Amino acid sequence: MERRDVVIIGGGPAGLSAARRLSELDIAATVLEREQQAGGVPRHCGHLGFGWESHRRIWTGPGFAAQLRDDSKGLDLRTGHTVLGIDGDVLRVQNQHGISEMAAGRIILATGTRETPRSARLVGGARPRGVMTTGALQANVYLQNFKPFDRPVIIGSELVSFSAILTCRHIGIRPVAMIEAKDRISAPRPGDLIAKLVYGVPVWTRTSLIAIEGRGQVEAVEIERNGKREHIACDGVIFTGEWVPEAALLVNRPQVTLAGNVHGDLKTSGACWREGRAIAEQVARGSA
Ligand SMILES: Cc1cc2nc3c(=O)[nH]c(=O)nc-3n(C[C@H](O)[C@H](O)[C@H](O)COP(=O)(O)OP(=O)(O)OC[C@H]3O[C@@H](n4cnc5c(N)ncnc54)[C@H](O)[C@@H]3O)c2cc1C
Repeated sequence: MERRDVVIIGGGPAGLSAARRLSELDIAATVLEREQQAGGVPRHCGHLGFGWESHRRIWTGPGFAAQLRDDSKGLDLRTGHTVLGIDGDVLRVQNQHGISEMAAGRIILATGTRETPRSARLVGGARPRGVMTTGALQANVYLQNFKPFDRPVIIGSELVSFSAILTCRHIGIRPVAMIEAKDRISAPRPGDLIAKLVYGVPVWTRTSLIAIEGRGQVEAVEIERNGKREHIACDGVIFTGEWVPEAALLVNRPQVTLAGNVHGDLKTSGACWREGRAIAEQVARGSA
């Protein structure tokens, strides 16, 4: 069985910065990344806003991901490698050749977080096409140049919900509205004013999604707004935020340390990058 001093699971900003810092400290680490290309979530966030905290430059997500891959040249970065499970210090890893085992002295888990999909939310109604998370929308728009709908409703008002507006705008989608069950938006103000005045998307607070309607594609949503039910015509629904850590591999063992968004909340890519480096230094000192 192959043995490595440190194995990092996940080649996003946190995992790649941890690997780079370990190599600067003369510790060989192997990064296992399930996608064919490393870079994590920024690979499909086509808008500007990445890189300042780490490189003092502003890139789009794909630009930032490309810089991280550049920073990783010479490291043992294995893409197309999915970790299926961890048992003690042994990882079960799948790649195109099948499943194998690898032993690791230390493991850094940097698998990120994802938005809660419809299936895990209590929303009634039909199951038509055109319902997705921001992450899936971004993959459609930025990776495949595909426009899945024209007039969706955005559910939620976290920072990522505003990223959904930017993604829509990139491909000519005009959201009908952003709805938020609470009294005020979750993202800092004046996000709601900017959404309305700059991007033409009204933000309705105290509004909940009750049901999704439509046979083939979404045709309408039923909402409850200020205590009254109404139907809003639309052809898509974007579920944003409500983060769930990609923690299926999380095992309570001393040799596993977490880095980046796998903790559960959504931090910026720069904060994850910095955390990856800090964790690498702790691992090098033997204190993590
Ligand atoms: C829609 C959206 C917009 C955003 N906009 C911004 C922005 O403008 N500016 C900003 O700074 N941040 C932004 N962020 C946040 C930023 O993308 C994240 O903070 C950052 O990507 C987190 O880095 P990470 O390394 O923790 O996780 P991720 O980037 O999620 O990387 C985790 C990696 O682990 C891999 N992985 C998962 N499971 C396994 C497994 N079992 N085996 C092997 N590999 C695995 C995944 O394929 C992935 O590559 C945005 C996020 C989203 C979702």
